[in-house]
Amino acid sequence: MKKHIAVLAGDGIGPEITNGAIAVLNKIGEKFGHEFDFEQLLMGVCAIEKTGEPLPQYTIDRCLASDSVLLGAVGGAVGDKRIEKLPGHLRPEAGLLKIRSALGLYSNLRPAKLFPALAGACPLRKDIAEKGIDLVVVRELIGGIYFGARGRGTEEGGEYAYDTEKYNVEEVTRIAKIAFELARKRRHHVTSIDKANVLESSRLWREVVHNVAKDYPDVELTDMLVDNTAMQLVKNPSQFDVVLTSNIFGDILSDEAAQITGSIGMLASSSLGATKRGLYEPIHGSAPDIAGKDIANPIATILSAAMMLRDSFDLPEEAKAVENAVNQVLDEGYRTADIMSEGMKQVKGSEMTKLIVERI
Ligand code: NAD
Repeated sequence: MKKHIAVLAGDGIGPEITNGAIAVLNKIGEKFGHEFDFEQLLMGVCAIEKTGEPLPQYTIDRCLASDSVLLGAVGGAVGDKRIEKLPGHLRPEAGLLKIRSALGLYSNLRPAKLFPALAGACPLRKDIAEKGIDLVVVRELIGGIYFGARGRGTEEGGEYAYDTEKYNVEEVTRIAKIAFELARKRRHHVTSIDKANVLESSRLWREVVHNVAKDYPDVELTDMLVDNTAMQLVKNPSQFDVVLTSNIFGDILSDEAAQITGSIGMLASSSLGATKRGLYEPIHGSAPDIAGKDIANPIATILSAAMMLRDSFDLPEEAKAVENAVNQVLDEGYRTADIMSEGMKQVKGSEMTKLIVERI
């Protein structure tokens, strides 16, 4: 298989961690007989410095011509006056929103997995953590209350403000299909999150998800109210496989899910639309505080590359090979600084990459 991958390394630790993922993909190519070629493109502060804008049209065009996109992170140091004085549409983060909409990425997948070797980093009770956490939040990304009508006005009694949660059948159908398809590649269980006891939009959400479920008789569907889900995530997270959510519920629950698994340097994500071309990135930012020191953990980005192999290129065996190599290195006691604990062997970011590559 031959694939062309656009690389938006971005700022801060972005180049270090994307280099880690490229090294891993090159090893996968060598071992399984695939050819991956990489095209480095500008986005973020580096793009502003060279072109005056955070996401040049050339970058968008080349991403659209690629088979998939690997992103490091964008953004300068908090308090960087040169960046903070820029108008909103010229800030690095504006590039992030623009590339997602330019590529039509309506679904955001955030796996939250507790690595057995890192169980000590889990803030949950030991007996709960021991049952394992291995779930994926499938979040609708370009609809719902974040994009609905909003405004302010005045009425008797003073000022008011409103935001609107609105979903149509098509928006719910397409994200539900993503969740069910994903469940087929995992443990065949979807939990659909709503607030159908109160919200009309949630009642439509539930109806549509049940309609989609008819095409997936091999996948079990559970409905769960969002407030109960917040509780169940800390009480019994092992029950979840694929968690299907609206934009706002997913925003909140995916952060909760990330937190219960330990380190920010370990968590990958993908955003997908109607085609196989996705955007794959770690959930963390550009970490300017540690940039250039070779101490950033590359694992979140390496696991994002594994998601690319599985979800964009349909290469599950290759994805598993990456995940197994990560597990092996952790089992052997190697740790970057962010996940270091007593008795373990601390390594630099580039050494961590090398160890993972050697084990593929
Ligand atoms: P951050 O995620 O960059 O860093 C938070 C903390 O986690 C820092 O202490 C950092 O050193 C640490 N950390 C992050 N990734 C790590 C890794 N791989 N290994 C080890 N430690 C790691 O969040 P922040 O400091 O709030 O934001 C810094 C910049 O990143 C800002 O400009 C922000 O806007 C941007 N940002 C970008 C994205 C993105 O590109 N998707 C996401 C979040 C924040």
